[in-house]
Amino acid sequence: MTDIFDNTVLCKDCNTKMQKIKYVKQGFSFRTLQCLKCKNKIIHPEDKQEYQHYLNLKNKAFNVKLRIVGNSYTVSIPKEIVNFINEQNKLIDDMVRLSFDSMNKLSLVFDEIRKEEDER
Ligand SMILES: [Zn+2]
Repeated sequence: MTDIFDNTVLCKDCNTKMQKIKYVKQGFSFRTLQCLKCKNKIIHPEDKQEYQHYLNLKNKAFNVKLRIVGNSYTVSIPKEIVNFINEQNKLIDDMVRLSFDSMNKLSLVFDEIRKEEDER
């Protein structure tokens, strides 16, 4: 199946051929067509849908159990979150960076390690 963005799309206002660009919003990148003349934009419908999926996950609160495994505590990260991150970032690594952000808050960063490896 060919992607709809592989077709020539003309701007509805000036009839100029629209160009493929990458539009990034909150770390989320959208395949986009843009008219270089009047700046009209068309966001790829699939990416729009994915972004909606992201917003849904983002606003969801998960209650997960803290368990002791050996000398560490573990929490289970819901599969739907990890799967979503994997789909977006094509992660190959199982390593994530964990930091003690503030009292009562831990952060997990999924793509920093990969970025560092890309720079090597
Ligand atoms: Zn135009």
